[in-house]
Amino acid sequence: MLSFNLAEKVAIVTGGNGGIGLGIAHGLAAGGATIVIAARDEEKSALAAQQLAPHNVGIMTIATDVTDRSSVDAMVEVVLDAFGRIDILVNNAGTNAGGSADVITDDEWDLVMNVNMTGAHYCSQAVYPAMKAKGGGKIINIGSMMSIFGHGSAPAYAASKGAIVQYTKALACGWADDNIQANAILPGWIDTNLTRELRDAVPSLEEAVTRRTPAAKWGTPDDLAGLGLFLASPASDFITGAAIPADGGYSVQG
Ligand code: NDP
Repeated sequence: MLSFNLAEKVAIVTGGNGGIGLGIAHGLAAGGATIVIAARDEEKSALAAQQLAPHNVGIMTIATDVTDRSSVDAMVEVVLDAFGRIDILVNNAGTNAGGSADVITDDEWDLVMNVNMTGAHYCSQAVYPAMKAKGGGKIINIGSMMSIFGHGSAPAYAASKGAIVQYTKALACGWADDNIQANAILPGWIDTNLTRELRDAVPSLEEAVTRRTPAAKWGTPDDLAGLGLFLASPASDFITGAAIPADGGYSVQG
């Protein structure tokens, strides 16, 4: 039976207090899921919770650093104490730092890999027993156009976003017997804090992205809500290990 209904489901969205994470949280909340925002900035998370309130679903914010295993484990424990289940995990927390491979520092490299890749692994590992215990779950990882293309000024970011796609496939194969589906979303250029900084630094970027994108515009966080809901819902139960672009056609433009 085709269903996008997420009532009774509990979803954790890392970095869900802004940008793409909040856009996806809106999609999951529209489906009826209880939303847990797991991010570091508590003030920002409280504001995001206010924005989600009109959906009339359960909302919880938990200060979490995905690079810290004990912080991740504590967050998962709080969610299980409160709701007794975790059905959906969106590994969205992400960052970028450093320059080209000849100049990026070890600290910048480690930061990007730890947030974008290792953090996703910590969270996936931490929720696995709860998903398995309830007979299944959905993991949605956020890749990037740099899961497909390289970029000279973002070696760690590109490496982490390539890795997250392979990690998604590994989860899909490894946890299929537990009825856990793992998929990746590859957003195109989306207007968020992350890209706003870059646009300020590189004024030509705004127009360059618009010109290259068949949809002829930047995406907004809301553009990710529908795909997020689909990949979290029973409607996508036979889809696992996929990496699906949501990019206005950016990745198919020659
Ligand atoms: P934002 O900067 O708006 O969001 C990033 C989020 O990650 C913030 O909410 C931040 O919250 C959270 N975060 C960062 N570090 C940590 C950490 N250590 N622990 C927990 N949360 C953390 O950027 P976007 O919305 O653009 O990015 C979201 C995801 O989408 C990222 O994975 C990014 O790589 C990806 N992406 C973005 C694209 C774009 O064009 N914008 C394109 C392709 C992919 P807090 O600071 O409170 O912890």
